[in-house]
Amino acid sequence: MDPVLPPGVTAAGMDRALKAFARVVGADNVFATAEDRDTYADKFAIDETKHHAYGAVAPISTEEVRAIVKIAAENRIPIWPISRGKNFGYGQAAPELAGSIVLDMSRMKKIELDLDSGSVLLEPGVGFYDLYDYLQAHKVPLWLSVPGNSWGSVIGNALDRGLGYTPYGENTSKLCGLEVVLPDGDLVRTGMGAMANSPTWKLYRYGFGPAWDQMFAQSNFGIVTKANLWLMPEPEQVRGMDVEMDLPEDLGPLIDTIGALRREGLLQQSPTIGNWFRAANILTTRSQWTDQPGSLSDDVIAKIRKKFGLGWWGVSLRLYGRESVTNAAYTILEQALQAIKPMAIKPQLWRRGDAMIPSQGGWYGIPMTFPMQNINWFGGRGGHIGFSPILPQSGKLAVEQFHRTYARYKEFGMDYQASFAFGERHLINVNALLVNKDDPAFMKRVDPFLRTLIADARKQGYGEYRTHLDYMDTVAETYDFNNHALRRLNEKVKNALDPAGILAPGKSGIWPAAYAKERRS
Ligand code: ADP
Repeated sequence: MDPVLPPGVTAAGMDRALKAFARVVGADNVFATAEDRDTYADKFAIDETKHHAYGAVAPISTEEVRAIVKIAAENRIPIWPISRGKNFGYGQAAPELAGSIVLDMSRMKKIELDLDSGSVLLEPGVGFYDLYDYLQAHKVPLWLSVPGNSWGSVIGNALDRGLGYTPYGENTSKLCGLEVVLPDGDLVRTGMGAMANSPTWKLYRYGFGPAWDQMFAQSNFGIVTKANLWLMPEPEQVRGMDVEMDLPEDLGPLIDTIGALRREGLLQQSPTIGNWFRAANILTTRSQWTDQPGSLSDDVIAKIRKKFGLGWWGVSLRLYGRESVTNAAYTILEQALQAIKPMAIKPQLWRRGDAMIPSQGGWYGIPMTFPMQNINWFGGRGGHIGFSPILPQSGKLAVEQFHRTYARYKEFGMDYQASFAFGERHLINVNALLVNKDDPAFMKRVDPFLRTLIADARKQGYGEYRTHLDYMDTVAETYDFNNHALRRLNEKVKNALDPAGILAPGKSGIWPAAYAKERRS
């Protein structure tokens, strides 16, 4: 892959910066060969070349990050921070702006546990597997909340607002105080960390005055070099059920029933309703079911459902805590779910000390990667791209959105994979599109398909919670109140903090003045 230079940077200027980076991190931790560039590419992207990094630099400490940022600002080199760079479906390790240098913090792996408060101070390179192994090795009774693909880092997931499945599923809301390198190289600690040596940094989120933690999530205002995260105490018992619903329209009552229990607080985890596709694309390939192009037919869907014993929709509900409390709550949960006449209810029970079923790791905070097998659905070079609008917790509105989206999947000839993940008051309707990179005609349909979905959702007032690099500008465009006042505010802050515009230009559709011309329509 030929190197692409960022706008306004000469080959000599880039060379000067790389040499300066090497003086900070050692030549072994600067990567700028063709093979290196390939390593940091987004393999799932429709067109990888749009987001080719020029290379990467991998610091080991906050001080090294500060030194790199200063060199980048002096030489006007855009840098793109990643923790472990496994942001699959959203851009992986690749930068928004081609030619950027990836700031790879995967070598920064310190973990500091505070058992009394049940929190950990993490560096960006700590993966879910690293933290899980650490807790196991030290026999610490604290649980993680892992995403469906847990290969990445805990901080990267929390900063991009990824989802897990336990009561602590929204990792970003369990952040409590960050250490951040600003684009001018200054170092700040948020919350109570603003007071040197305060024992309350990890305990109280807000500090004094404006609270900044979320200003660094999905943003390009700073590089997070440390974060405190609260972990869930191991419960005495996890009790619940796997529920299957027969018909597409059953989605409505299922959402209304779960939503009420979730808002009331009886159900405290973040359950995710998924459609019939979820087992087939992990355990089988498409050619085992059909040789027909276009969306899977109703016949094939019926065969898939029969083979795996699935409804049109299914959901796993889990109650965490004391045995007596979860037993009482289970009775109420069961009554509520029986009332909407499910196709099947399969009770589940785990008590402290019991063995765990590895395929159910998500409910127990055990990292997993097997769901990634879905990219082999077409049997060749695969990938997935997400379309994830936020909806109200309303069965009626969710069913309408489902019909709209499913019709588009059929129109564009795509296989429908959908989930509806509960937050406290909202739903995130994560639709994963499995792509076949060996089929050029298919790949040509992907971009218009996703743009159509984004436009359809906007008409309803629904915006995405997270998106692929290709659509950051498009999605930012849909947040349009008062002539895009939020984007104007973001860019005012961006220009104040980062006048050289070097930190992740384009992230979340926020472009510094220095690169304003790069905004995609
Ligand atoms: P993971 O480690 O889970 O694979 P990534 O490293 O791919 O996650 O991070 C996801 C996104 O979050 C990145 O594309 C980047 O925009 C942002 N990000 C990740 N780590 C940091 C960080 N330490 N500081 C600021 N932004 C970050």
